Amino acid sequence: MDITDLVSALLRGAADEPRCDRCIAVTLRETLTAVRRALPIVLDSSNDYARRATRCTACGESTVTVVYAPAVKCTRCSRTVAPPDGISEHGDVFHHHCWDVLRSELRIANSRQLARLSREVVRRSRERLDGNGQNPPAR
Ligand SMILES: [Zn+2]
Ligand SMILES: [Zn+2]
Repeated sequence: MDITDLVSALLRGAADEPRCDRCIAVTLRETLTAVRRALPIVLDSSNDYARRATRCTACGESTVTVVYAPAVKCTRCSRTVAPPDGISEHGDVFHHHCWDVLRSELRIANSRQLARLSREVVRRSRERLDGNGQNPPAR
């Protein structure tokens, strides 16, 4: 197996677990240099691999890590969501802008419903008042 295969196999085996270069080297019993040479090839091979400045899940150090994070699709537009552009709501993932659109659509739907409801309430209270004869029409 090529070192790039080893690196990608390691990362795939630990999806969503960022690893620093050093931990990858230690796990694979390879030199740091060899791993650093292999990583760009792995990163280029698929959009599912990403460089992230975060905490390594193996050694706990905050550093530059590499992670296998399989592509997530936006629930609204079904295009791929890159982790920093995504927002997770109710178990679904959206682009920030898609979520904003969705939220304003929701707000419009709600206010329409509200308007309908308030018209209904006004109509009923008018009927009630007319029925009681307590609100005779002016004139
Ligand atoms: Zn590490
Ligand atoms: Zn989207």
